[in-house]
Amino acid sequence: MADPKPVILVSACLLGVACNHEGRAASRSVREELESRYRIVPVCPEVLGGLTTPRPAAEIQPDGRVVNVEGTDVTAAYRRGAEAAVRVAGAAGAPRAVLKARSPSCGSAQVYDGTFTGTLEEGEGVTAAALRAAGVEVTSEDDPLP
Ligand code: SF4
Repeated sequence: MADPKPVILVSACLLGVACNHEGRAASRSVREELESRYRIVPVCPEVLGGLTTPRPAAEIQPDGRVVNVEGTDVTAAYRRGAEAAVRVAGAAGAPRAVLKARSPSCGSAQVYDGTFTGTLEEGEGVTAAALRAAGVEVTSEDDPLP
């Protein structure tokens, strides 16, 4: 029987999955806080886009491309991952998502500025932007959880 709880898309690294660029999970898990109220659908756009784990850190450049610390343009993989996340949200019927803050894919309010100097600026990751464009309400683990 289908779980009647509303569906929520969640960054897999916020659920204990060791899928971030360092091959680790995020230090904070939101699973226990969300699972009583939502049916959680995990998603890692960078893995869905075909990138390895671990992988070199990447940042969004001023021209919108995503380039990793080794100088490789990984924009196509980030876009593939974003498109996959949008398809997953649609297939699962998820009207909202809680995504990892400050990621070039999942960041929803701030991202690193492309200089690999740890400098944050206002902006959103490739997947957060795509989900919002598709009508999904996106927040991060730094926001009050829905
Ligand atoms: S792409 Fe998103 S879900 Fe995957 S490791 Fe990065 S922040 Fe986490």
